[in-house]
Amino acid sequence: MFKNLSIPVQRLYVQITAAIVTNSYFLAPYLKYLPCPSLNCYACPAANFACPIGTLQYFVIIGVFPFLLLGILFLVGGFLGRWACGYLCPFGLFQDLLAKIRKAKLEMPTWLGWGRYVSLVGVAIIIPAITKEPWFSKLCPAGTLEAGIPIVGWAFFKTKALGQYSTILGMTGWLFWVKVGLLAGTIAAAIYIKRPFCRFICPLGAIFGLFNRVSLLQIKVNHHALHLPADCRKICPVDIDIRKDPVSAKCIRCMQCTKCPGVSQK
Ligand code: SF4
Ligand code: SF4
Repeated sequence: MFKNLSIPVQRLYVQITAAIVTNSYFLAPYLKYLPCPSLNCYACPAANFACPIGTLQYFVIIGVFPFLLLGILFLVGGFLGRWACGYLCPFGLFQDLLAKIRKAKLEMPTWLGWGRYVSLVGVAIIIPAITKEPWFSKLCPAGTLEAGIPIVGWAFFKTKALGQYSTILGMTGWLFWVKVGLLAGTIAAAIYIKRPFCRFICPLGAIFGLFNRVSLLQIKVNHHALHLPADCRKICPVDIDIRKDPVSAKCIRCMQCTKCPGVSQK
């Protein structure tokens, strides 16, 4: 029955299931220290896994090589390239849902994609190494959505509605409002631009994207079919035409473009 569904619907089911599994709370005592292959905030009260970028920053700060983390990322990336971005990541799903809001989507210059590498090398590695603070996690909009707002919201409810004392509210300062502003900006952008955070900012997407060229899962383009008319870019959640570059680091391997003439999964 699942096979009879279109690829976008199959993908949506897998994304929702992955978001629930990643945040189902009950497995947290066993899995919380294991990095998952998606950007899911460790501080989220329901999260089962550690965030790979939070883990990377932690090891940078303490000056230890992250063997297990890199092993997991290399294994997933080596087999599947950026597939986890297309199917497993809750923040990718969140942006896909925002993109469904019927607004004309803006085309963005391709050089903005370098932002992912700036985030990875600058914000998630060099700055934490110098300041000993995990600055990507401090500013991450996925963290604000999954952890910051629920935790502060619950503290606010406890204080105002239940009359109980909470230390969290007293600790909520300017940084929290900067984070809320970044999340609001990401949400607004995702309504008008397809997956802006994944395409221009996410360091985990930058890591997985490096594997698209060598991973076992590939997209095959039959160049004889290239002249056939099709708007492959329109159906792509990251706004690319895979026929121009089948190993593009931007492709999240969602496979939706396999309905374009000459494009198939390999
Ligand atoms: S690029 Fe980052 S936020 Fe986007 S789907 Fe991949 S891991 Fe998630
Ligand atoms: S190029 Fe194809 S497989 Fe890659 S993200 Fe776009 S639609 Fe999905």
